[in-house]
Amino acid sequence: MKSFVYHQPKTVADAVRLLSQRDTMAIAGGQDLLGAMKDGLFEPGHVVNLKSLPGLREIRETSSGLQIGALVTLTEIAEHPVIRRDYTALAEAAESVATPQIRNVGTIGGNLCQRPRCWYFRDPHVHCLKKGGDQCYAARGDNRYHAIISPGPCYIVHPSDCAPALLAFGARVTIASAKGTRTVALKDFFQMPDKNLKGENILQAGEIITQITVPKPPAGTRSTYVKVREKDSFDWALVAAAVVLQIQGGVCRRASVVLGGVAPIPYESAEAAKSLVGKTVNVQTAAAAGSAAVAKATPLEMNAYKVPMAEAVVKRAVLAAAGVTG
Ligand SMILES: Cc1cc2nc3c(=O)[nH]c(=O)nc-3n(C[C@H](O)[C@H](O)[C@H](O)COP(=O)(O)OP(=O)(O)OC[C@H]3O[C@@H](n4cnc5c(N)ncnc54)[C@H](O)[C@@H]3O)c2cc1C
Repeated sequence: MKSFVYHQPKTVADAVRLLSQRDTMAIAGGQDLLGAMKDGLFEPGHVVNLKSLPGLREIRETSSGLQIGALVTLTEIAEHPVIRRDYTALAEAAESVATPQIRNVGTIGGNLCQRPRCWYFRDPHVHCLKKGGDQCYAARGDNRYHAIISPGPCYIVHPSDCAPALLAFGARVTIASAKGTRTVALKDFFQMPDKNLKGENILQAGEIITQITVPKPPAGTRSTYVKVREKDSFDWALVAAAVVLQIQGGVCRRASVVLGGVAPIPYESAEAAKSLVGKTVNVQTAAAAGSAAVAKATPLEMNAYKVPMAEAVVKRAVLAAAGVTG
């Protein structure tokens, strides 16, 4: 690994000032960044440790929902009793990440901002589009793990498990910079490659996530996160779905269906949600939601298997969230 200068700021203001300098990267748990630095994918001259910042490690319950500091670990999210009870999909998503050791160190901010696992992007010797090259090697290469829903020109899938769950709950992120703070809906945080080829989100140099706010779910809300992976010990999702349903009198009043592993950003299917609202959840309506979720899929040469897989994952998640045995 190339040597670098390590900074331990004591305030958010100092951290964002340092991060607005060239050749500087933020590190939280380091579970994504350190591996990428060891592999030579990134070689920053300066690394700014966010873990030295105060006030970003708490989960607070308010009358309007949850405030989760960016440095809260995935284990803390997975084990939090209120998150497990009222935001089940988020607890399950956090619990599905990697291994206990990685979850003990990895943070929610790092989980949202981790870089894609595309093997062309991760290979320091491959100069792909995302790294300023002239082509996406996945478009015609080995694309078995890539996107089935992408406007192009890049076909990564977003790697975060927590992002689909947070998006399904309508979370917002607070972003700090030298200019102050701003709060944006998570759905506006992530960006498709036709809008932002080199990054996956709206963060600019000198900006960090400080907090995630999750609104209190209305009465009758139930949720789950279903993830299919190649290796059950630890792995990123081939396909995953976060489903949040509000069910009253046996009828679905509100629904949110967000898929992971299928697109360059967590993919919210308005069609799947719409297909459920006003209906009783049963095997037929859950299957219809699965079909609606993949209606826009245009698989690449080697990943058509993800289409029926996504259909089945959404169906399974809808039934599980509603507590219906299929
Ligand atoms: C073997 C292995 C398996 C994994 N499996 C999964 C998996 O199944 N699912 C999954 O979702 N992830 C997985 N991960 C990815 C990742 O390590 C974890 O998700 C973890 O949450 C990353 O958090 P971190 O704090 O360690 O991030 P870091 O490595 O510290 O940072 C990751 C990136 O985010 C940026 N960053 C960190 N915090 C902030 C912030 N507050 N504001 C702005 N930018 C920030 C950093 O600059 C860096 O670019 C896996 C990693 C490994 C090594």
